[in-house]
Amino acid sequence: MDICIIGGGLTGLVAALPLSEASEVTVLEKEPLLGGCMASYQRDGYWIEQYYHHCFAGDSHLFSLLDDLGLKDRLEWLKGSTGYYVEGKVHPLTSPMEILRYPHLSFIDKARLGVLTLRAKGLDLSSLDDVPAGEYIREHLGERVYTSFFEPLLRSKFGDRRDEVSAAWLISRIAIRSDRGVEGERLGYLNGGWHLLIDSLEERLLSKGCAIEKGTPAISLEHTGGKWLVNGRAYDVVLATIPPQEIKRISGDETFASLPYQGAACMTLGLDRDVTRGIYWVNMKDQAPYGAVVTHTNFAPRERYGEDIVYLASYFAGQPAPDLKETMLSDFCRRFSVPKTAVHWSELAVERFAGPVYTTGFARLIPAYEERGLYLAGMFSRPNYPERSMEGSIIAGLEVADRIMEGQDD
Ligand SMILES: Cc1cc2nc3c(=O)[nH]c(=O)nc-3n(C[C@H](O)[C@H](O)[C@H](O)COP(=O)(O)OP(=O)(O)OC[C@H]3O[C@@H](n4cnc5c(N)ncnc54)[C@H](O)[C@@H]3O)c2cc1C
Repeated sequence: MDICIIGGGLTGLVAALPLSEASEVTVLEKEPLLGGCMASYQRDGYWIEQYYHHCFAGDSHLFSLLDDLGLKDRLEWLKGSTGYYVEGKVHPLTSPMEILRYPHLSFIDKARLGVLTLRAKGLDLSSLDDVPAGEYIREHLGERVYTSFFEPLLRSKFGDRRDEVSAAWLISRIAIRSDRGVEGERLGYLNGGWHLLIDSLEERLLSKGCAIEKGTPAISLEHTGGKWLVNGRAYDVVLATIPPQEIKRISGDETFASLPYQGAACMTLGLDRDVTRGIYWVNMKDQAPYGAVVTHTNFAPRERYGEDIVYLASYFAGQPAPDLKETMLSDFCRRFSVPKTAVHWSELAVERFAGPVYTTGFARLIPAYEERGLYLAGMFSRPNYPERSMEGSIIAGLEVADRIMEGQDD
Protein backbone atom coordinates (compact mmCIF):
# COMPACT_ATOMS: atom_id res chain seq x y z
CA MET A 1 0.00 0.00 0.00
CA ASP A 2 1.28 3.49 -0.90
CA ILE A 3 0.61 6.11 1.76
CA CYS A 4 1.27 9.84 1.50
CA ILE A 5 1.52 11.87 4.70
CA ILE A 6 1.14 15.59 4.17
CA GLY A 7 3.14 17.45 6.83
CA GLY A 8 6.39 16.51 8.57
CA GLY A 9 5.45 17.84 12.01
CA LEU A 10 5.14 15.65 15.08
CA THR A 11 1.76 14.14 14.10
CA GLY A 12 2.95 13.14 10.62
CA LEU A 13 6.29 11.74 11.77
CA VAL A 14 4.74 9.74 14.61
CA ALA A 15 2.00 8.32 12.34
CA ALA A 16 4.67 7.33 9.81
CA LEU A 17 6.44 5.08 12.36
CA PRO A 18 3.88 2.20 12.56
CA LEU A 19 2.66 2.80 9.00
CA SER A 20 6.12 2.24 7.52
CA GLU A 21 6.26 -1.27 9.04
CA ALA A 22 4.07 -2.69 6.28
CA SER A 23 3.54 0.09 3.71
CA GLU A 24 5.43 2.40 1.39
CA VAL A 25 5.21 5.76 3.14
CA THR A 26 6.13 9.16 1.72
CA VAL A 27 6.16 12.23 3.98
CA LEU A 28 5.82 15.57 2.20
CA GLU A 29 7.02 18.60 4.16
CA LYS A 30 6.77 22.06 2.65
CA GLU A 31 9.64 23.54 4.70
CA PRO A 32 13.30 22.61 4.25
CA LEU A 33 13.27 21.36 7.89
CA LEU A 34 11.07 18.78 9.61
CA GLY A 35 9.32 19.46 12.90
CA GLY A 36 6.69 22.09 12.06
CA CYS A 37 6.00 23.98 15.30
CA MET A 38 8.86 22.03 16.90
CA ALA A 39 11.53 23.13 14.40
CA SER A 40 14.73 24.61 15.85
CA TYR A 41 17.49 27.08 15.00
CA GLN A 42 21.05 25.84 14.92
CA ARG A 43 23.32 28.40 16.57
CA ASP A 44 27.07 28.24 17.23
CA GLY A 45 27.37 25.22 19.52
CA TYR A 46 23.70 24.66 20.39
CA TRP A 47 20.18 24.19 19.08
CA ILE A 48 17.20 26.19 20.26
CA GLU A 49 13.52 25.76 19.42
CA GLN A 50 11.90 28.40 17.22
CA TYR A 51 8.96 28.27 19.66
CA TYR A 52 9.50 27.60 23.40
CA HIS A 53 8.59 24.02 24.34
CA HIS A 54 8.35 22.09 27.58
CA CYS A 55 6.41 18.99 28.60
CA PHE A 56 4.29 18.01 31.57
CA ALA A 57 4.40 15.17 34.11
CA GLY A 58 1.35 13.44 32.56
CA ASP A 59 2.75 13.21 29.00
CA SER A 60 3.01 9.41 29.06
CA HIS A 61 2.94 8.88 25.27
CA LEU A 62 5.76 11.37 24.85
CA PHE A 63 7.82 9.53 27.48
CA SER A 64 7.23 6.18 25.72
CA LEU A 65 8.30 7.68 22.41
CA LEU A 66 11.46 9.15 23.96
CA ASP A 67 12.18 5.74 25.50
CA ASP A 68 11.69 3.98 22.18
CA LEU A 69 14.08 6.42 20.49
CA GLY A 70 16.71 6.10 23.23
CA LEU A 71 16.20 9.68 24.43
CA LYS A 72 14.48 9.16 27.78
CA ASP A 73 17.72 9.77 29.73
CA ARG A 74 17.90 13.24 28.28
CA LEU A 75 14.58 14.29 29.73
CA GLU A 76 15.10 16.61 32.68
CA TRP A 77 12.67 18.25 35.08
CA LEU A 78 13.36 21.91 35.60
CA LYS A 79 11.75 24.69 37.60
CA GLY A 80 9.16 26.58 35.56
CA SER A 81 8.95 29.85 37.47
CA THR A 82 6.33 32.42 36.46
CA GLY A 83 5.68 36.12 36.90
CA TYR A 84 3.63 39.06 35.68
CA TYR A 85 4.87 42.33 34.21
CA VAL A 86 2.62 45.07 35.57
CA GLU A 87 3.15 48.85 35.49
CA GLY A 88 6.75 48.54 34.40
CA LYS A 89 7.73 45.94 36.99
CA VAL A 90 8.31 42.15 36.95
CA HIS A 91 6.43 40.47 39.83
CA PRO A 92 7.47 36.88 40.66
CA LEU A 93 4.41 34.66 41.14
CA THR A 94 5.80 31.18 41.68
CA SER A 95 5.91 30.41 45.41
CA PRO A 96 2.98 30.89 47.81
CA MET A 97 4.90 33.78 49.47
CA GLU A 98 5.38 35.54 46.14
CA ILE A 99 1.71 35.11 45.34
CA LEU A 100 0.78 36.52 48.76
CA ARG A 101 3.03 39.54 48.14
CA TYR A 102 1.61 40.28 44.66
CA PRO A 103 0.02 43.71 45.07
CA HIS A 104 -2.51 43.63 42.20
CA LEU A 105 -4.91 41.12 43.80
CA SER A 106 -6.53 41.23 47.24
CA PHE A 107 -6.19 38.41 49.78
CA ILE A 108 -9.78 37.33 49.03
CA ASP A 109 -9.04 37.26 45.26
CA LYS A 110 -5.99 35.07 45.89
CA ALA A 111 -7.99 32.72 48.10
CA ARG A 112 -10.67 32.38 45.39
CA LEU A 113 -7.96 31.73 42.81
CA GLY A 114 -6.49 29.03 45.06
CA VAL A 115 -9.88 27.33 45.41
CA LEU A 116 -10.43 27.33 41.64
CA THR A 117 -6.96 25.84 41.10
CA LEU A 118 -7.74 23.03 43.54
CA ARG A 119 -11.14 22.34 41.94
CA ALA A 120 -10.02 22.60 38.30
CA LYS A 121 -9.07 18.93 37.88
CA GLY A 122 -12.54 17.75 38.96
CA LEU A 123 -14.61 20.10 36.75
CA ASP A 124 -16.59 18.72 33.80
CA LEU A 125 -14.99 20.31 30.72
CA SER A 126 -17.75 19.31 28.29
CA SER A 127 -20.24 21.55 30.08
CA LEU A 128 -17.76 24.47 29.84
CA ASP A 129 -17.23 24.28 26.08
CA ASP A 130 -20.08 26.72 25.41
CA VAL A 131 -19.18 29.16 28.20
CA PRO A 132 -16.80 32.06 27.43
CA ALA A 133 -13.73 31.99 29.71
CA GLY A 134 -14.05 35.68 30.64
CA GLU A 135 -17.70 35.28 31.64
CA TYR A 136 -16.88 32.21 33.76
CA ILE A 137 -14.06 33.94 35.65
CA ARG A 138 -16.00 37.16 36.20
CA GLU A 139 -18.95 35.20 37.54
CA HIS A 140 -16.95 32.89 39.83
CA LEU A 141 -13.96 35.02 40.84
CA GLY A 142 -14.91 38.63 40.12
CA GLU A 143 -13.82 41.39 37.75
CA ARG A 144 -10.46 42.17 39.39
CA VAL A 145 -9.21 38.58 39.19
CA TYR A 146 -10.17 38.61 35.53
CA THR A 147 -8.44 41.89 34.61
CA SER A 148 -5.39 41.45 36.85
CA PHE A 149 -4.71 37.79 36.33
CA PHE A 150 -6.61 35.98 33.57
CA GLU A 151 -7.00 38.68 30.96
CA PRO A 152 -3.19 39.05 30.46
CA LEU A 153 -2.90 35.27 30.24
CA LEU A 154 -5.67 35.04 27.65
CA ARG A 155 -4.20 38.00 25.75
CA SER A 156 -0.76 36.36 25.68
CA LYS A 157 -2.29 33.16 24.25
CA PHE A 158 -5.05 34.43 21.96
CA GLY A 159 -4.47 38.16 21.34
CA ASP A 160 -7.55 39.92 19.95
CA ARG A 161 -9.60 36.69 19.99
CA ARG A 162 -9.35 36.21 23.76
CA ASP A 163 -13.04 37.04 24.37
CA GLU A 164 -14.11 34.11 22.16
CA VAL A 165 -12.16 31.45 24.10
CA SER A 166 -14.11 28.86 26.09
CA ALA A 167 -13.92 28.18 29.81
CA ALA A 168 -13.11 24.55 28.85
CA TRP A 169 -9.73 25.73 27.53
CA LEU A 170 -9.01 27.90 30.55
CA ILE A 171 -9.96 25.31 33.16
CA SER A 172 -7.95 22.60 31.40
CA ARG A 173 -4.91 24.90 31.45
CA ILE A 174 -5.36 25.56 35.15
CA ALA A 175 -5.74 21.81 35.80
CA ILE A 176 -2.54 20.96 33.87
CA ARG A 177 -0.62 23.68 35.70
CA SER A 178 -1.98 22.92 39.19
CA ASP A 179 0.68 20.30 40.02
CA ARG A 180 3.03 22.67 41.75
CA GLY A 181 4.80 22.46 45.06
CA VAL A 182 5.95 25.44 47.10
CA GLU A 183 8.94 25.82 44.77
CA GLY A 184 6.62 26.07 41.77
CA GLU A 185 6.00 23.76 38.87
CA ARG A 186 8.47 21.25 37.38
CA LEU A 187 8.43 21.16 33.58
CA GLY A 188 10.20 18.74 31.27
CA TYR A 189 12.87 19.63 28.73
CA LEU A 190 15.11 17.52 26.55
CA ASN A 191 18.75 18.23 27.39
CA GLY A 192 20.16 19.25 23.99
CA GLY A 193 16.80 20.50 22.70
CA TRP A 194 13.63 19.01 21.22
CA HIS A 195 15.31 18.90 17.81
CA LEU A 196 16.83 15.62 19.07
CA LEU A 197 13.34 14.11 19.05
CA ILE A 198 12.64 15.30 15.50
CA ASP A 199 16.08 14.17 14.25
CA SER A 200 15.69 10.75 15.87
CA LEU A 201 12.25 10.31 14.32
CA GLU A 202 13.69 11.20 10.92
CA GLU A 203 16.58 8.79 11.34
CA ARG A 204 14.27 5.95 12.46
CA LEU A 205 11.87 6.56 9.55
CA LEU A 206 14.66 6.61 6.98
CA SER A 207 15.99 3.34 8.40
CA LYS A 208 12.53 1.79 7.84
CA GLY A 209 12.59 2.89 4.20
CA CYS A 210 10.17 5.80 4.57
CA ALA A 211 10.67 8.51 1.92
CA ILE A 212 10.89 12.02 3.36
CA GLU A 213 10.62 14.85 0.87
CA LYS A 214 11.49 18.19 2.46
CA GLY A 215 10.87 21.52 0.76
CA THR A 216 7.98 19.82 -1.06
CA PRO A 217 4.55 21.35 -0.41
CA ALA A 218 1.47 19.37 -1.34
CA ILE A 219 -0.14 21.78 -3.78
CA SER A 220 -2.88 19.59 -5.21
CA LEU A 221 -5.02 16.78 -3.86
CA GLU A 222 -7.57 14.91 -5.90
CA HIS A 223 -9.52 11.64 -5.59
CA THR A 224 -9.88 9.86 -8.89
CA GLY A 225 -10.22 6.23 -10.10
CA GLY A 226 -10.03 4.87 -6.53
CA LYS A 227 -6.67 6.57 -5.93
CA TRP A 228 -5.57 9.81 -4.29
CA LEU A 229 -3.38 12.08 -6.40
CA VAL A 230 -1.03 14.35 -4.47
CA ASN A 231 0.90 16.74 -6.73
CA GLY A 232 -0.17 14.38 -9.55
CA ARG A 233 1.32 11.23 -7.95
CA ALA A 234 -1.01 8.31 -7.06
CA TYR A 235 -1.39 6.90 -3.52
CA ASP A 236 -3.82 4.40 -1.95
CA VAL A 237 -4.15 6.43 1.24
CA VAL A 238 -3.51 10.05 2.19
CA LEU A 239 -3.10 11.32 5.74
CA ALA A 240 -3.26 15.12 5.94
CA THR A 241 -1.84 16.65 9.13
CA ILE A 242 -2.44 20.21 7.95
CA PRO A 243 -5.44 22.35 9.02
CA PRO A 244 -8.75 21.46 7.32
CA GLN A 245 -8.83 24.88 5.60
CA GLU A 246 -5.51 24.02 3.93
CA ILE A 247 -6.97 20.71 2.73
CA LYS A 248 -9.89 22.70 1.32
CA ARG A 249 -7.45 25.07 -0.42
CA ILE A 250 -5.31 22.39 -2.09
CA SER A 251 -8.20 20.03 -2.95
CA GLY A 252 -10.77 22.67 -3.91
CA ASP A 253 -13.28 20.61 -1.86
CA GLU A 254 -15.41 23.27 -0.18
CA THR A 255 -17.02 20.72 2.13
CA PHE A 256 -13.96 20.69 4.41
CA ALA A 257 -14.91 23.13 7.16
CA SER A 258 -12.45 25.81 8.31
CA LEU A 259 -11.52 25.77 11.98
CA PRO A 260 -10.73 28.88 14.00
CA TYR A 261 -6.94 29.13 13.93
CA GLN A 262 -4.40 31.71 14.96
CA GLY A 263 -0.87 32.53 13.92
CA ALA A 264 2.18 32.85 16.16
CA ALA A 265 5.04 35.30 15.74
CA CYS A 266 7.84 34.44 18.11
CA MET A 267 11.06 36.39 18.35
CA THR A 268 14.13 34.66 19.79
CA LEU A 269 16.96 36.83 21.12
CA GLY A 270 20.48 35.96 22.24
CA LEU A 271 21.41 38.45 24.98
CA ASP A 272 24.23 39.29 27.36
CA ARG A 273 21.86 39.67 30.36
CA ASP A 274 18.79 38.39 32.18
CA VAL A 275 15.87 40.85 32.20
CA THR A 276 13.18 38.84 34.00
CA ARG A 277 14.73 38.51 37.48
CA GLY A 278 15.53 34.81 37.09
CA ILE A 279 11.95 33.97 36.03
CA TYR A 280 11.17 31.63 33.11
CA TRP A 281 7.72 32.80 32.03
CA VAL A 282 6.52 36.40 32.42
CA ASN A 283 3.06 37.37 31.17
CA MET A 284 2.67 40.98 30.09
CA LYS A 285 -0.21 42.81 31.74
CA ASP A 286 1.04 46.12 30.31
CA GLN A 287 0.27 46.58 26.61
CA ALA A 288 3.20 45.43 24.45
CA PRO A 289 3.63 43.96 20.95
CA TYR A 290 4.19 40.56 22.68
CA GLY A 291 2.12 38.82 25.34
CA ALA A 292 4.87 37.02 27.24
CA VAL A 293 8.62 37.20 27.76
CA VAL A 294 9.95 33.67 28.08
CA THR A 295 13.56 33.42 29.25
CA HIS A 296 14.68 29.95 28.19
CA THR A 297 17.95 30.29 30.14
CA ASN A 298 15.98 30.83 33.37
CA PHE A 299 14.64 27.33 32.70
CA ALA A 300 17.47 25.32 31.09
CA PRO A 301 20.94 26.15 32.48
CA ARG A 302 22.51 29.24 30.86
CA GLU A 303 25.99 27.61 30.82
CA ARG A 304 24.84 25.34 28.00
CA TYR A 305 24.31 28.31 25.73
CA GLY A 306 26.93 30.86 26.78
CA GLU A 307 24.32 33.63 26.57
CA ASP A 308 20.80 34.45 27.74
CA ILE A 309 18.03 33.33 25.41
CA VAL A 310 14.70 35.12 25.45
CA TYR A 311 11.51 34.56 23.46
CA LEU A 312 9.01 37.34 22.83
CA ALA A 313 5.78 35.47 22.23
CA SER A 314 2.81 36.83 20.31
CA TYR A 315 -0.23 35.48 18.51
CA PHE A 316 -2.12 37.12 15.65
CA ALA A 317 -5.29 36.69 13.62
CA GLY A 318 -4.96 36.89 9.81
CA GLN A 319 -1.57 38.40 9.03
CA PRO A 320 1.19 39.49 11.45
CA ALA A 321 1.58 43.25 11.89
CA PRO A 322 4.02 44.76 9.36
CA ASP A 323 7.51 45.55 10.77
CA LEU A 324 6.75 43.23 13.70
CA LYS A 325 10.38 42.27 14.17
CA GLU A 326 11.52 45.89 14.51
CA THR A 327 8.51 46.84 16.68
CA MET A 328 9.07 43.93 19.07
CA LEU A 329 12.80 44.50 19.33
CA SER A 330 12.61 48.23 19.94
CA ASP A 331 9.82 47.84 22.52
CA PHE A 332 11.77 45.13 24.33
CA CYS A 333 15.02 47.16 24.39
CA ARG A 334 13.24 50.31 25.62
CA ARG A 335 11.04 48.57 28.20
CA PHE A 336 13.81 46.46 29.73
CA SER A 337 16.58 49.09 29.27
CA VAL A 338 18.60 46.79 27.03
CA PRO A 339 21.05 48.56 24.66
CA LYS A 340 20.94 47.16 21.11
CA THR A 341 24.62 46.18 21.55
CA ALA A 342 23.51 43.69 24.25
CA VAL A 343 21.49 41.76 21.64
CA HIS A 344 23.83 39.20 20.03
CA TRP A 345 21.28 37.95 17.52
CA SER A 346 17.56 37.86 16.85
CA GLU A 347 15.25 35.73 14.70
CA LEU A 348 11.52 36.00 14.10
CA ALA A 349 9.57 32.82 13.40
CA VAL A 350 6.08 33.25 11.97
CA GLU A 351 3.55 30.43 11.61
CA ARG A 352 0.07 31.21 10.25
CA PHE A 353 -1.42 27.98 11.62
CA ALA A 354 0.17 27.86 15.06
CA GLY A 355 -2.85 26.48 16.89
CA PRO A 356 -6.61 26.36 17.01
CA VAL A 357 -8.42 29.11 18.86
CA TYR A 358 -10.53 27.15 21.34
CA THR A 359 -13.62 29.25 20.85
CA THR A 360 -16.90 28.33 22.52
CA GLY A 361 -18.42 25.33 20.73
CA PHE A 362 -15.02 24.14 19.44
CA ALA A 363 -15.60 20.55 20.59
CA ARG A 364 -18.38 20.20 18.00
CA LEU A 365 -16.07 21.33 15.18
CA ILE A 366 -13.34 18.71 15.68
CA PRO A 367 -13.03 16.63 12.49
CA ALA A 368 -13.11 12.83 12.60
CA TYR A 369 -9.92 10.91 11.72
CA GLU A 370 -11.51 9.88 8.43
CA GLU A 371 -13.67 12.09 6.24
CA ARG A 372 -14.70 11.24 2.70
CA GLY A 373 -11.91 8.62 2.46
CA LEU A 374 -9.21 11.05 3.51
CA TYR A 375 -7.45 10.64 6.86
CA LEU A 376 -6.97 13.78 8.95
CA ALA A 377 -5.03 14.23 12.17
CA GLY A 378 -3.10 17.03 13.77
CA MET A 379 -3.26 19.71 16.38
CA PHE A 380 -6.96 20.05 15.55
CA SER A 381 -7.74 16.41 16.52
CA ARG A 382 -9.59 15.27 19.64
CA PRO A 383 -6.44 14.40 21.73
CA ASN A 384 -5.35 18.02 21.25
CA TYR A 385 -8.57 19.41 22.76
CA PRO A 386 -8.81 21.63 24.74
CA GLU A 387 -5.10 22.41 24.37
CA ARG A 388 -2.70 21.36 21.65
CA SER A 389 0.51 19.78 22.84
CA MET A 390 3.30 17.41 21.84
CA GLU A 391 1.46 14.70 23.81
CA GLY A 392 -1.82 15.36 21.95
CA SER A 393 -0.10 15.28 18.56
CA ILE A 394 1.65 12.00 19.38
CA ILE A 395 -1.65 10.41 20.43
CA ALA A 396 -3.38 11.77 17.30
CA GLY A 397 -0.57 10.38 15.09
CA LEU A 398 -0.78 6.93 16.71
CA GLU A 399 -4.59 6.80 16.70
CA VAL A 400 -4.91 7.79 13.05
CA ALA A 401 -2.22 5.24 12.06
CA ASP A 402 -4.32 2.56 13.83
CA ARG A 403 -7.40 3.70 11.92
CA ILE A 404 -5.53 3.51 8.61
CA MET A 405 -4.23 0.02 9.37
CA GLU A 406 -7.70 -1.17 10.50
CA GLY A 407 -9.20 0.30 7.31
CA GLN A 408 -6.83 -1.82 5.23
CA ASP A 409 -7.84 -5.00 7.10
CA ASP A 410 -11.55 -4.60 6.18
C1 LIG B 1 4.36 28.86 20.04
C2 LIG B 1 4.12 27.42 20.35
C3 LIG B 1 4.52 26.91 21.56
C4 LIG B 1 4.25 25.58 21.89
N1 LIG B 1 4.67 25.12 23.10
C5 LIG B 1 4.39 23.84 23.44
C6 LIG B 1 4.83 23.34 24.69
O1 LIG B 1 5.50 24.04 25.48
N2 LIG B 1 4.52 22.05 25.00
C7 LIG B 1 3.79 21.24 24.16
O2 LIG B 1 3.54 20.08 24.51
N3 LIG B 1 3.38 21.71 22.96
C8 LIG B 1 3.65 22.97 22.59
N4 LIG B 1 3.24 23.44 21.38
C9 LIG B 1 2.39 22.58 20.54
C10 LIG B 1 3.15 21.57 19.71
O3 LIG B 1 4.24 22.20 19.07
C11 LIG B 1 2.19 21.02 18.65
O4 LIG B 1 1.08 20.41 19.25
C12 LIG B 1 2.81 20.00 17.72
O5 LIG B 1 4.14 20.28 17.39
C13 LIG B 1 1.95 19.99 16.47
O6 LIG B 1 2.42 19.04 15.55
P1 LIG B 1 1.59 18.80 14.22
O7 LIG B 1 2.37 17.86 13.39
O8 LIG B 1 0.20 18.43 14.57
O9 LIG B 1 1.47 20.23 13.51
P2 LIG B 1 2.63 21.11 12.86
O10 LIG B 1 3.80 21.18 13.75
O11 LIG B 1 1.98 22.40 12.45
O12 LIG B 1 3.04 20.29 11.56
C14 LIG B 1 2.38 20.41 10.34
C15 LIG B 1 3.45 20.35 9.27
O13 LIG B 1 2.82 20.43 7.99
C16 LIG B 1 3.62 21.22 7.14
N5 LIG B 1 2.76 21.66 6.03
C17 LIG B 1 1.79 22.61 6.05
N6 LIG B 1 1.22 22.72 4.85
C18 LIG B 1 1.83 21.80 4.03
C19 LIG B 1 1.65 21.41 2.68
N7 LIG B 1 0.73 21.98 1.89
N8 LIG B 1 2.46 20.44 2.18
C20 LIG B 1 3.41 19.84 2.96
N9 LIG B 1 3.60 20.18 4.26
C21 LIG B 1 2.81 21.14 4.79
C22 LIG B 1 4.10 22.32 8.05
O14 LIG B 1 5.24 22.98 7.52
C23 LIG B 1 4.41 21.53 9.32
O15 LIG B 1 5.73 21.04 9.33
C24 LIG B 1 3.55 24.75 20.99
C25 LIG B 1 3.19 25.25 19.73
C26 LIG B 1 3.47 26.56 19.41
C27 LIG B 1 3.07 27.10 18.06
